[in-house]
Amino acid sequence: MNPTAFDAQHIWHPYTSLLNPLPCYEVVSAKGVTLTLADGRELVDGMASWWACIHGYGVPELDAAIHQQLESMAHVMFGGITHAPATALCKALMEILPQGLDRFFLADSGSVAMEVALKMALQYWQSQGKNKHRFVSLAKGYHGDTFGAMGVSDSDTGMHSIYAGFLPAQLKVPAPNSPFDSEFNPAELAPIEETLQQHHQDIAAFVLEPIVQGAGGMRFYHPEYLAAVRQLCDKYEVLLIADEIATGFGRTGKMFACEWAHITPDIMCIGKALTGGYLTQAATITTQKVAHTIGAGNPGVLMHGPTFMANPLACTVSLASLKLLLDSPWQQRVNAIEAQLKAELEPAKALPQVADVRVLGAIGVVEMKAEVNVAELQKYFVEQGVWIRPFGKLIYVMPPYVIKPQELRRLTSAIIGALVPVRGTA
Ligand SMILES: *Cc1c(COP(=O)(O)O)cnc(C)c1O
Repeated sequence: MNPTAFDAQHIWHPYTSLLNPLPCYEVVSAKGVTLTLADGRELVDGMASWWACIHGYGVPELDAAIHQQLESMAHVMFGGITHAPATALCKALMEILPQGLDRFFLADSGSVAMEVALKMALQYWQSQGKNKHRFVSLAKGYHGDTFGAMGVSDSDTGMHSIYAGFLPAQLKVPAPNSPFDSEFNPAELAPIEETLQQHHQDIAAFVLEPIVQGAGGMRFYHPEYLAAVRQLCDKYEVLLIADEIATGFGRTGKMFACEWAHITPDIMCIGKALTGGYLTQAATITTQKVAHTIGAGNPGVLMHGPTFMANPLACTVSLASLKLLLDSPWQQRVNAIEAQLKAELEPAKALPQVADVRVLGAIGVVEMKAEVNVAELQKYFVEQGVWIRPFGKLIYVMPPYVIKPQELRRLTSAIIGALVPVRGTA
């Protein structure tokens, strides 16, 4: 049986059925921004493997860092043990994180980092003898697939109905509506203020993705909204948890999306591009105040401890990725990608089947009026020599920052080609 046939029968892929699986493409290698299929075809990568591979694939500096770390140790438990890869990484992250975020929990995936963030918030209030045990979050938000993270994600796109009865019901407020680069409409804040006013005694934290709502709809909202939520959280004594798992490490044009609003959240989650997409690692970072308050409470310990916490290979490659990013003209690269995406995708706005085209940093989105046929469109993109994975009504790209203009052009022409009546003629 060939690998794809075996796969289709036995292995689940993200959000898929084993009875009616979507087609899969076998990748045998990846280098730079090119994925090579088993049949030899080469595809320009438009996805950065879901926000992660910001430097592309087979990056010499990252390969070397991992090889070198392998010489001393691949893994060691973090209970009662520490190591230079972990301490060096956290020190380096402190230099770039919003001021005041300097207490780290190294987790093994984004969803787990979110669970830890929720636990931190609950324990922070419990330590002060306050019964603040609920969370408020935004409609169209996405924070991961574990139960706590799902509870604060959008209830429709997350299909909460499947797990009703088990999933903790959290408070939801409408999704932000003022687009990133438009006029801010302060009336948007009324439902938030109302919810906080009514329930603040019960609310541990407000949870949001700063500026970009990712998997819940690829929406970009106004920085003033984020700044106002920070103020409202302070006013009503509610912690702010910023989920930067998708936006962190330059994707929006700032190192962290919180910088657009000049805010520091009480708790921040990072992941995805943290390791440059090499290994699975994430982190939950908080302030001394939150960490010490939890520590002074009962039981005083933060109740979490993954087996692969602070894996030395992952820490090493994270540090190497961060160095590579900081040594690169990443901001110019992201700005150049943004300008090119705007120039090449915005003409699609005029097409009748297109609802919206939006670009922020190295993210370009074409929102259709109707749901796309993923399998069919995917096949078309592969035939065009590009890797673009649409979902729902969204055709979007978030390429590695090292993509060259002519490679990016391949992605945008494939998208435009998919939209015109006679495919590929645009
Ligand atoms: C991907 C993502 C997560 C979940 O991270 P995993 O590593 O897939 O568990 C959480 N929040 C946001 C904003 C994400 O984009």
